[in-house]
Amino acid sequence: MTALTAHRNKDLLFQQVREFHPDMAGLTMPIPMDEIPEDLRHIHWVMGKEALHAAAAEVPADMVLVSVVGIAGLQSVMDAIAAGRQVLLANKEALVTGGHLVMKAAQEAGKRILPVDSEHSAIFQCLEGAKGNAPVKLLLTASGGPFRTWDQERIAHATRKEALAHPNWNMGAKITIDSASMFNKALEIMEARWLFDMPPEKIQVVVHPQSIVHSAVEFADGAVIAQLGVPDMRVPIQYAMAYPRRLTTGCKPLDLFALGQLTFEPGDTKRFPALRLAGECLRAGGAACTILNGANEEAVAAFLREEINFGAITTLVEEALNSLGDLPANTLEDIFEADRLARTEVKKQLAQGKGTV
Ligand code: MG
Repeated sequence: MTALTAHRNKDLLFQQVREFHPDMAGLTMPIPMDEIPEDLRHIHWVMGKEALHAAAAEVPADMVLVSVVGIAGLQSVMDAIAAGRQVLLANKEALVTGGHLVMKAAQEAGKRILPVDSEHSAIFQCLEGAKGNAPVKLLLTASGGPFRTWDQERIAHATRKEALAHPNWNMGAKITIDSASMFNKALEIMEARWLFDMPPEKIQVVVHPQSIVHSAVEFADGAVIAQLGVPDMRVPIQYAMAYPRRLTTGCKPLDLFALGQLTFEPGDTKRFPALRLAGECLRAGGAACTILNGANEEAVAAFLREEINFGAITTLVEEALNSLGDLPANTLEDIFEADRLARTEVKKQLAQGKGTV
């Protein structure tokens, strides 16, 4: 059986239901049943938060693709694992906030988490031929975003429009801002730490503006295996869905001659402190990564409302980390509480006028 859910984009969901005929569909932001087009009313509709639980755990399916935005994805991932589903993970926050719980639950259920995030899919693909040889380093590529060549001062005062102009990927507003600040890469370091059981010091960020090498792994003998391709999310999505088969995606093949050259730079932790914070939070353990994530979401929302300047995103996150200190992350409840506290802390700082433009 199949299910499809969305948050509030009902028109797109209706269009997809009409095309794919799922047995169940739902919107987490509820609408009255009479707003559902008549030709779609014969399927089972679930409204509100229950829609995610129904799709992840109640509808009998082989696999669950979790692309819920934010920490809400953590509950869905845990629900899907508990129900014995194969999880295809497009949500970062589940591993960022609850990676230790998710990986333990998956291991106990005898299931692998198949990554959909393009960098992690690349690493996963590179490890397919490893024959049990553990990598010594993960090379996590990053486009560098729109501020790759900007100096610190200019980045601090970047506008909403400048931050939303991503050179290579067309994504939602939150993740595009995260790409500009490199908080997206910080979250991906955390994701990689759990998915591939690698300590942060063995995960190196490689800025690669062309976004052709999607990531790479280094082995003990010095060999580096990379995955390359045109940036197109259909590739990692199909790889997770059809794993271990590869399907025709309709994506453009890579034209190395047209590219000419590929370039690589180190990630700059001075201009992009998020890269430094990722390692610090992972080493601190507890709920530090959850605090970073929750505080960043609130700060990005304030930036998108044009209440704070771009540099204040990092300042607000660091202040939340410092003032909340050690918080436990032993249970899902602990994690949701740390997330709530982080958001409250940022709101408090915003109310005091911190970072306002
Ligand atoms: Mg990614």
